[in-house]
Amino acid sequence: MQMLVTVAWLLHATLGIPVGDVARPKLLVVVHVERQESADAQLLIEATAMARDIWRPYVDVGFGKAGAIQRTIEVDQLDLVVTDRLLQHDEPRGLGWIQFVNDQPAPTITVSTRAAQQLMEASSWSGTPLRLLPASVRRQFISRALGRSIAHEVGHYLLRSKAHGRRGLMRDHLTADDIMEPRHGKDRLEPDDLKRLDRRLYEYAATMSGDRPLS
Ligand SMILES: [Zn+2]
Repeated sequence: MQMLVTVAWLLHATLGIPVGDVARPKLLVVVHVERQESADAQLLIEATAMARDIWRPYVDVGFGKAGAIQRTIEVDQLDLVVTDRLLQHDEPRGLGWIQFVNDQPAPTITVSTRAAQQLMEASSWSGTPLRLLPASVRRQFISRALGRSIAHEVGHYLLRSKAHGRRGLMRDHLTADDIMEPRHGKDRLEPDDLKRLDRRLYEYAATMSGDRPLS
């Protein structure tokens, strides 16, 4: 029996905002690693920090290990599995995946440390094979590949969409240069993605106002 890492994304509106403002959603991600030896803790901290930074313009995202999560207002949950298995599903980037059932995203995303490792070993950066570069650079490649993959799969979940665009976070292809890029200019949501996200956030707001008593 496999031990799965569970990552939960919890979305809730920020309290105390002025009347009339759209509530800024907060998503909590709980991370469990399938096999502890497949990824060290610091690498995952760096990867999740990158995913958090990519989403910061849209949704506040916090990560934590299962069992150490302080839940406040919870309207949704997403599990993240960090695995050393390779991708079985039809995800062009191969680093991560999410299943859809009846056109709805399953509440689990998975990223593969082995896929990131294999991509690193097959890639060049600025004309030099990454496998010939210092360990610190190779490690950075893997943490950024995982971070961008987590952010991308979260996008499939939050946007409730399998669609890939030609640009932005939901593009279907990442080059080694994309992965090593420290800034997030190419990881933004495109206009169609923003419309989908808005619809999702209004669904959450409606759920919260309907299901939770006023305090
Ligand atoms: Zn995708």
